[in-house]
Amino acid sequence: MHLSDLKTGEKAYIVKVKGHGGFRKRIIEMGFIKGQEIEALLSAPLQDPVKYKVMGYEVSLRRQEAEQIEVSYEILRSVDENPMTSTSTPRDQQHNTTGIKELTVALVGNPNCGKTSLFNFASGAHEHVGNYSGVTVDAKEGYTHFGGYRIRLIDLPGTYSLSAYSPEELYVRKQLVDDTPDVVLNVIDASNIERNLYLTTQLMDMHLRVVCALNMFDELELRGDKLNVDKLSSLLGMPMVPTSFKTGRGLEQLLSEVIHIFESREGHDEYYRHFHIKHDHEIEDGINNIQKYLKGNDLLRMRYSTRWLAIKLLEMDKEVDAILRELPDYDKIIEARDTAVRRIKEETGDDSETAIMDAKYGFIRGALHEAGYVVGVKEDTYKTTHRLDALITNRWAGFPIFFALLWVMFEVTFTLGQYPMDWIDAGVGWIGEWVSETMDDGPLKAMIVDGVIGGVGAVIVFLPQILILYTFISLMEDSGYMARAAFIMDKLMHKMGLHGKSFIPLIMGFGCNVPAVMATRTVESRRARLITMLVLPMMSCSARLPIYIMIIGAFFAQKYQSWVMVSLYAVGIVMSVIVARILSRWVIKGEDVPFVMELPPYRFPTAKAIFRHTWEKGKQYLKKMGGVILVASIIVWALGYFGTMGVAPSLEDSFIGMLGKLMEPLFTPQGFDWRLDISLLTGVGAKEIVASTIGVLYGDAYNFTPLVAYAFLIFVLLYFPCIATIVAIKNESGSWRWAWFAALYTTGLAWVVSALVYQVGSLLL
Ligand code: GDP
Ligand code: MG
Repeated sequence: MHLSDLKTGEKAYIVKVKGHGGFRKRIIEMGFIKGQEIEALLSAPLQDPVKYKVMGYEVSLRRQEAEQIEVSYEILRSVDENPMTSTSTPRDQQHNTTGIKELTVALVGNPNCGKTSLFNFASGAHEHVGNYSGVTVDAKEGYTHFGGYRIRLIDLPGTYSLSAYSPEELYVRKQLVDDTPDVVLNVIDASNIERNLYLTTQLMDMHLRVVCALNMFDELELRGDKLNVDKLSSLLGMPMVPTSFKTGRGLEQLLSEVIHIFESREGHDEYYRHFHIKHDHEIEDGINNIQKYLKGNDLLRMRYSTRWLAIKLLEMDKEVDAILRELPDYDKIIEARDTAVRRIKEETGDDSETAIMDAKYGFIRGALHEAGYVVGVKEDTYKTTHRLDALITNRWAGFPIFFALLWVMFEVTFTLGQYPMDWIDAGVGWIGEWVSETMDDGPLKAMIVDGVIGGVGAVIVFLPQILILYTFISLMEDSGYMARAAFIMDKLMHKMGLHGKSFIPLIMGFGCNVPAVMATRTVESRRARLITMLVLPMMSCSARLPIYIMIIGAFFAQKYQSWVMVSLYAVGIVMSVIVARILSRWVIKGEDVPFVMELPPYRFPTAKAIFRHTWEKGKQYLKKMGGVILVASIIVWALGYFGTMGVAPSLEDSFIGMLGKLMEPLFTPQGFDWRLDISLLTGVGAKEIVASTIGVLYGDAYNFTPLVAYAFLIFVLLYFPCIATIVAIKNESGSWRWAWFAALYTTGLAWVVSALVYQVGSLLL
């Protein structure tokens, strides 16, 4: 029987994970191992994905993925073994306590274990703490002073393992191997200790100086778990400190352990020893045989633990393979590996990867058992989470709740945002007038009033709305709702070649596309991430709003106005669906790499956190304003102010007027005149500028039809997002190629769709 056959509420035991490659590895690392109990908790509204509980952790799998997992109602074998030995092999590590007392500490741990919270507590920095996995993709650096040291902290992306599977894992591994931090701070979610320790065993293989933070200890205590922390520390040979970075508990002790480990020598005390995780003899033989060849190479030995290399080689790690390829005995090494792999297969019936993984989990279970680990019987801490989830991801209630929340979000954003908007608008007007009155006439005054104040003012007006929108988004993220939204949207997103997690950036796109493009980092699959950022510009950002308001207000009767507005948003969404499907079908090919969506427990976000995250996102908007928009406004102003004969007598004679005339033939199919063409051109800098340009060019005398107006709105919606967004796409996709692609296809699409609107409309009306 397969996991997909398991009905909600039923429990079974895992027999085997089928499939291959990254999926299989990932699934096993998440705790889907032989003999493990698994429970089907609930399924998304469309019966896909389904949420499971394994090793006390909740994960969601798509049906297709669940079909790869064989389960049985009966437990098959006893899994309580304890393959542990303590071969203490001190390594002669050089102490770099020379001169300045500085040390580098890298934070390593699963996603959502609290690394960024720790980082923020220690360094006082304002990093985003998201309640869904993978927010941190770059390493963030911060400093803290403690015990006479200046401690450099590096917040690395969350990983379940250090295999060469995902970019994050490779990145973390590279940091650990190449940039060798002085001490590794392994952050562990103590409420999911068994699974989190898997990563710890990999750090042990790498033979690093490790201190563990048993974070979320508050949750462990709340649940009434029992665990002898000292015992576990000595069993694993590394100091472990209970912490909670909701409150900052344990931080000082943690830092003093870090310094202690840094200053002391391995093997001299109980909490700083090196262990090998003992494998079955065929694996050990294989490791030894491979190690024989590696040990001869001094350069290699200095950089890596040869045992680690051997283990990784047995796990068929491509990176390690590439490192070893340089060696003269490469052929012999591979021969040794293949022999070992064959023998492991013969004797255990498993491939070497699985056999090694099994041994690690065996080690973890053994260690936890000896440390008296008992899962509490007290109140289920996830009870509220479960109750909420039953409602929020319910087949019938899920979507209505979700759309209701979205509606509230936009409604509040636009109605509540109107007040501060009006105030700022009045303020900007007042400053403009004051400058007009106090300064002497001339180009400088014109530049300041029309260029700087007019241009930037048109943009700053939207700051309150953006901040309100971001407050909602931060609330949804930090409380854990976003993860559920991604969960229920997963199937639909999947149909577009996207992933459930793509949904979060798409929603953010309604505020401003720039932070939204940055937020695509949370999407693990490169393909889905790329498609998400390419269709993002069609989410109508708030910069387009002033243009809509201006044009709709002038051309459509009151009773149609809101419908026209809604239709624009809808056209954007529909277009993005179509484009995403086309892109995933024909342009950005590649396998749909499956990965697991975590459903973290619901948490009450703190006011401080919400404030911080809202500000983080708002800051990017302000940056855009201070940079691109300021420069673009001045350029637009200058092009409109000057002509071939110096100061232009009228706009028509200015440079921008000439440009517009030049462009006119390009936009005849849309029925646009030169003034509209110019405003589109100015919108390349930032869409907000379109509105102010129209204001300048027409005054109040618009002389085109509602049909042209609508075609124009469609064009504004779809074409070239803005320079800042394109630059963000370049940064996140890592190439100008995709940035150019985004710039060109959106403009082409806008041209075609708005021409269609105008031509078809002319026939009908
Ligand atoms: P990261 O993915 O490892 O960087 O984890 P984050 O620092 O982003 O934390 C994930 C979530 O766990 C956030 O909502 C934090 O507020 C929360 N969190 C962090 N540490 C603790 C803790 O010790 N106890 C509890 N209850 N929650 C925590
Ligand atoms: Mg983080």
